[in-house]
Amino acid sequence: MQLTDSITTIKGIGPKTAEKFRSLGVENVGSLLSFYPRDYIRYNKVEPIVDAQEGYFLSVMGSLKSKISVRRFKGRSISTAVVRDESGEISCIWFNMPYLKSTILPGRTYVFRGRVKRKGKTFELVQPEVYQPEKYEILRQDLQPVYRLKDGLKNTGIQKAVRTLIEDEGLDITPFENYIPGKIKDRYHLEDRKEAIINIHFPKGEKELEQARERLVFEEFFNFFYSIRSEKAGKNRPVNHLSFKNREKFNFYLSTLPFSLTEGQKSALGEILNDLTGPFAMNRLIQGDVGSGKTVIAVATMILAAENGYQSAMMAPTEVLAKQHYESIFAEFTKLGLEFKPVLLNGSMTAAQKREAKALISSGEADIVIGTHALIQESVEFRNLALVITDEQHRFGVNQRAKLQLKGLNPHVLVMSATPIPRTLALIMYKDLDISLMKGLPLERLPIKNCAVDTSYRNTAYRFILNEIREGHQAYIVCPLIEESENLDGEDVISYAERLRGIFPKDINIGIIHGEMSQEEKDHTMEQFKKNCIHILVSTTVIEVGINVPNATVMMIENAERFGLSTLHQLRGRVGRGKAQSYCIFVSGSKNENTRKRLKVLCDSNDGFKIAEEDLKLRGPGELFGTRQSGILSFSIGDIYTDAEILKKASEAADYAIENGILFNNKYKGSDLLTNEGTLPII
Ligand code: ADP
Ligand code: MG
Repeated sequence: MQLTDSITTIKGIGPKTAEKFRSLGVENVGSLLSFYPRDYIRYNKVEPIVDAQEGYFLSVMGSLKSKISVRRFKGRSISTAVVRDESGEISCIWFNMPYLKSTILPGRTYVFRGRVKRKGKTFELVQPEVYQPEKYEILRQDLQPVYRLKDGLKNTGIQKAVRTLIEDEGLDITPFENYIPGKIKDRYHLEDRKEAIINIHFPKGEKELEQARERLVFEEFFNFFYSIRSEKAGKNRPVNHLSFKNREKFNFYLSTLPFSLTEGQKSALGEILNDLTGPFAMNRLIQGDVGSGKTVIAVATMILAAENGYQSAMMAPTEVLAKQHYESIFAEFTKLGLEFKPVLLNGSMTAAQKREAKALISSGEADIVIGTHALIQESVEFRNLALVITDEQHRFGVNQRAKLQLKGLNPHVLVMSATPIPRTLALIMYKDLDISLMKGLPLERLPIKNCAVDTSYRNTAYRFILNEIREGHQAYIVCPLIEESENLDGEDVISYAERLRGIFPKDINIGIIHGEMSQEEKDHTMEQFKKNCIHILVSTTVIEVGINVPNATVMMIENAERFGLSTLHQLRGRVGRGKAQSYCIFVSGSKNENTRKRLKVLCDSNDGFKIAEEDLKLRGPGELFGTRQSGILSFSIGDIYTDAEILKKASEAADYAIENGILFNNKYKGSDLLTNEGTLPII
C-alpha cells in the first residue's frame, strides 16, 4: 500500500466511512497516519474515597459493604451497593446489570472506576467499571488513543483503521523520509518517522510516547519555519507598487467613531500608513490584547484601500466571526453613507450565493471581501487585490496566510493576533514579520473582576448571573465538552444547559452553541444572543475568538483546569467589551497545585502579555502532555509553549538547512489539514 492510496484501500473502510473520514481532513493513507490522537486515555490511579469530586472520574480500591441489591424501576433493573475503603464510603449505582450481584462479592477487593455524581449531601459512583486490582494495574500501563471525532465516526473505528495500516507489511512508507531532510535528521538525532508514527498512535508507554511526540513536533515546527523562511530568503522583499494618496474617506471614518483611538491604535495606524507609502509591501503583525480594538484598524485600512481603487480581503478563522465582521461593516457603511461594497464569502453559503459573491469579487465590484478560508479556494479570483488581512492569525496555518497573499500581486499584508505570546517566542515565530505592539485597552473600560472557585460555588454564581441578567446584561458559560462522554472528564454543553433550565426561572432563556451544530443553527443562536433574546449562552470554546457582544458581562468557565492560560484569557476577552463592569468566574474542582497557580495568574492580571510570560514560566516542557493548550497557529501536534525547546531547535535547524542549501521537497500539509473550520481545536 502507498501513502497516497485512498483510505478505502484499507480493509473495512467503504465509501460511506471514507466520506466521514474526509470531513476530518483524512483522505489517504498518509493523512490517516498523520491524524494524530488528541489525547490518550490513561486509567487514573486509585484514590481514596474521600477525594471524590463531582463530575470527575474516580478509581477506588475497596470492597462491598454488603451484597449488591437489585430492584426494578420503570422496566430497568437498578443495582446498588456501598463500597468502602480506609478513608470512607461511597454508594454505587448500575443500570441493567443485574448479573453483577453474583459476580461482585463482599469480602473481596476490587477497583471501581466511574464518574462521581452528587447525591444529596454525599456522592455516588455512576455505572462504575469493576476490575480485579492486578488487572487494573496492567491496564494502567496502557495508553489508548483518543481521536477527534465527527459525523458519527467512532474512536474504536479510527483505532482499528490505523492499526490495520500499521500492521500492514506491504505499506510503503518511503515518502515519509521527505518530511525532514536526512542531514537534519542526523544532525538532531531524530527518531525514525515510522517508529514515531507507530508510537504516537499506539504508545508502548509514556517514554515512547514522549519520544515519538518530540520527533513529530520537531518535524512540524521545522517544516513551518522552513517554508516561511525559504520563501523569504529566496526573494527580495516585494516592492510597493501601489499608491494610497486619497485619505478623505479614511479620515472621515475615523472621525465618526464614537470614541477616541487609544495610543496603541494610533501608533499602529501610523505604522501602517508608513508601510503603505513606503518602498516595500507591508508585512505587518498587529499584536494587541483581546478587546484592544483591532477591528477598527482593519476596517480603516480597508476603507483607505477602497478609496484608492483597490480591493481588500479579510480572512477570519470561523464563519461566526466572519459573519460578525461583515455585518458590522455593512451596517456601519450604510449608516455613514460610504458607498464601498462589502461582500461575504463563507463555506456554508449556498452554491448560488457563492457564485454571486465570486462574480462580485472577480469583477472588482466588491471593495471589501470578508470570509473564512473559503477565500483561498482556487475559484476565487480578485481583480486588484492590494491588501490582505488575516484576523486571529494564530488560528490559521502559515500556508493559508500565504495562499491569500497569492490572490494579489504582492499585496500589502496585515495580520492581527490577539494572542500575545512571550517576546522570546514571538521573535522566533514572527521572524518574517514587522510587529506593531498595540498595548493598552480603551480608557472607558473597567478592568474585569476575576475569581477562581471550586464547584461548590456554582449556586452563588448562578444567583450572581441572575442579578446581572435582571440588570439587562448577559452571560456566557463555557464547558469543555459538547455532550456527555464516557471517557472524558468534564462538563458538557448539552447536559449543562439542560440543568440550568431547571435552575433558572422560566423567563431566562438559555441557548447553546458548539462546533457540531450546523452553520445555520450557530448563526441563529448568535443572532438571538446579540439581540439579547438569549440571556445565557452555554458554549464550547467556539466563542473563543473574536466574538463581540458588549452587553455580556459575565463569563463563567467550567473545568477551567482543562484549558490553557491563553485560551482562558481569550475566553475572558468575550466580556469587558462595553462600559459596564464585567466579571469572569473560573470554576475548577481540581486541587492540583499547578492548576491553582495558573488560575491565580489569570485572577491577578488582565494583561495578556504578562499572562503569556507567566504561562511560559509555569509550564515546564512536556507538561500537560496530550492536551493541546495554546493551539497557536493551529499546529496539529506541537504546542509553542510546552514545546518551546523543540521550537527553538527546529527554528535553528530550518535556518541551518536554508543557509547550507539543504533542499527537500517540502510537502508537509499538516497545518493546513487542521485549520478547516470545525476541525479547529474545539471539542
Ligand atoms: P479585538 O482587539 O479583540 O478584536 P474589537 O476590535 O472587537 O477588539 O473591539 C472591541 C470593542 O471595543 C468593540 O465594541 C469596539 O467598537 C470597541 N472599541 C474599539 N476601539 C475603541 C476605543 N478606542 N475606545 C472605546 N471602544 C473601542
Ligand atoms: Mg478581533
